[in-house]
Amino acid sequence: MKIAILSRNPKLYSTRRLVEAGEQAGHEVHVIDTLRCYMSMVSHKPEIHFKGRTLEGYDAVIPRIGASITFYGCAVLRQFEMMGVFPVNESVAITRSRDKLRSLQLLARKGVGLPVTGFANAPDDIPDLISMVGGAPLVIKLLEGTQGIGVVLAETRQAAESVIEAFMGMSANIMVQEYIKEAGGADIRCFVVDGKVVASMKRQAKDGEFRSNLHRGGSASLIRITPEERATAVRAARIMGLNVAGVDILRSNHGPLVMEVNSSPGLEGIESATGKDVAGMIISFLEKSARPHRTATKGI
Ligand code: ADP
Ligand code: GLU
Repeated sequence: MKIAILSRNPKLYSTRRLVEAGEQAGHEVHVIDTLRCYMSMVSHKPEIHFKGRTLEGYDAVIPRIGASITFYGCAVLRQFEMMGVFPVNESVAITRSRDKLRSLQLLARKGVGLPVTGFANAPDDIPDLISMVGGAPLVIKLLEGTQGIGVVLAETRQAAESVIEAFMGMSANIMVQEYIKEAGGADIRCFVVDGKVVASMKRQAKDGEFRSNLHRGGSASLIRITPEERATAVRAARIMGLNVAGVDILRSNHGPLVMEVNSSPGLEGIESATGKDVAGMIISFLEKSARPHRTATKGI
């Protein structure tokens, strides 16, 4: 197969590993800078241009689109789809997963366990919003945040009110969430490929921190997940329409709660914590599924 990896940086661990795994399996793999793709929309002849030439003959595309370039990146990926190239994850599913509220709404509709979450626009509704999620302590999240930035724990109602007011004053979109204290600053990343959890790790926040993101100083370790957690992760990925997903789960005393479903989950943490060849599994999925003019998922 001829495989394109849409990535801004060929030196990133995830990108390097995907190139390596693809080449090891005998494929031709090209890393293409997403932001250097440009496109023409002509009836019956969609094209992608890259540094003066047209990109042709690809069987599959692996999107590694960072959150900050979601809009342009998904347009480029969509153009590959228009040309009949099989994507690891479809542009629609990626767009869906990048909108945290939209994701939670879709997951809630299908009965997936979630922390109680509220959102509102008007400052007058703040007191009721706080009561709706069970009062303080609670977690306030900027919808545009990633890697734990913009996730705040408000210990008291008063603190919650002032932080929410401040965010609203800046016209920032936020959601307010029940704080799952019993998770003890840990969450579980379930890596799903093609409807199966192929690897999972526990991430533990450093002392004095409740956010377990590795970027925030958290540490990763092996964990055995329960059948219920496994089933929850697989369902969440399917509802989002993602063939490859990182599903983040909190262990609450009423079962697994999905926090987030990532459409470009990083490989470094999960491969080093588990010793598994996750990149190879993504390539195997492509070998099994990539056909011209066929996408494997539609999502919900
Ligand atoms: P990001 O997408 O920026 O990583 P998350 O929503 O995943 O933001 O939150 C970052 C971290 O904060 C999570 O990995 C988790 O450890 C912690 N966290 C988030 N929401 C809650 C919550 N409702 N209860 C307890 N801990 C939480
Ligand atoms: N790569 C990040 C992660 O796996 C986030 C990717 C995304 O927003 O889809 O945590």
